[in-house]
Amino acid sequence: MTSPIPQLLSRLRDLRPARPFRVMEVCGGQTHSILRHGLDLLLEEHANIQLLHGPGCPVCVIPADYLDRAIALSRQPDTLVCTFGDLIRVPSGSSGDLYAARAAGARIRTCLSPLDALDLAEKNPSLRVIWLAIGFETTAPAHALALRLARERGLANYSVLPSLFLLPPVLRAICAAPDTAPDAFLAAGHVCTVTGSAPYDALAAELRRPIAITGFTPEEILLGAYHALRLHADGTPSCFNAYPSAVHPDGNPAARALMDETFVTCDQTWRGLGILPRSGLALAPAYAAFDANALLPDASVPAPAPDAPACPASRILRGLLSPPDCPFYGTRCTPDTPLGAPMVSPEGACSAFYLHRPRP
Ligand code: SF4
Repeated sequence: MTSPIPQLLSRLRDLRPARPFRVMEVCGGQTHSILRHGLDLLLEEHANIQLLHGPGCPVCVIPADYLDRAIALSRQPDTLVCTFGDLIRVPSGSSGDLYAARAAGARIRTCLSPLDALDLAEKNPSLRVIWLAIGFETTAPAHALALRLARERGLANYSVLPSLFLLPPVLRAICAAPDTAPDAFLAAGHVCTVTGSAPYDALAAELRRPIAITGFTPEEILLGAYHALRLHADGTPSCFNAYPSAVHPDGNPAARALMDETFVTCDQTWRGLGILPRSGLALAPAYAAFDANALLPDASVPAPAPDAPACPASRILRGLLSPPDCPFYGTRCTPDTPLGAPMVSPEGACSAFYLHRPRP
């Protein structure tokens, strides 16, 4: 089978704008694919498209004080904190990281799924098991399923500390700031398998910018960039679903029903971006008994601290700074000695650059 890439590049060249066309992707998986295959360089050369890497890494946007709370919980007696492995080295505001807390004796365990944490709670009734429920719309249904099962099974020793994010509000916030507003977005295909493409139709019209829902292969990303540029050239700020094999207009109704049962929207703090209205998910009142926030006396939670002063992650997350332009990239800051979350998480833009591009 012949590759569609030469034809896509030809079509992109036909639309090449005079000034740089700035397209932001908001998915760490897409960032990796872009850098691994040099798609940013191809798009710049052939179509004058400048790719910006937005807040698409769920670990990178977690506020520092969330980790302070997780570490404070892990120090409570008879408590086991369970987490995705990505989170283990992310700096908190003032308590170090989960890795250091575990080395100091706290019970912290990495799991591949919230169902693993649920299983640990069932097998260890004398322990309070706390699951760090993080992520975007993609992972929220799995957290929701574990919550529903915990309730059905009457597991009183299973709790959840949520830090869940919704993508449309952050796209609104980015467009509201004149220094960050891109000309178009590539929307994350896996998020849209849950939400559907329909919400992005309305969002594109609201933001007056094209949005292309895109997969993860080089061909899919180039196709998304092509449709974003085509819609711009046509003067049509709408959404194009360039990933129809996985994304349907109404997404996954069963997953969304689970989310609607277990969560409610809330104002959410994004690391580097501040509090964005109705941009997160908190436990629904019917599931309040599973909220680990209630297990922490206020006095045991350190005051929120600013992000690490040396690390300009907020500029990285808003597409204002490319990782290689950070003065600490590859010198003081590496995956072994990370100064900020975007170098810790495999989905972070800094670690993606470090993996795929030559070090300084
Ligand atoms: S390279 Fe390190 S210090 Fe610089 S923005 Fe990325 S995480 Fe922060």
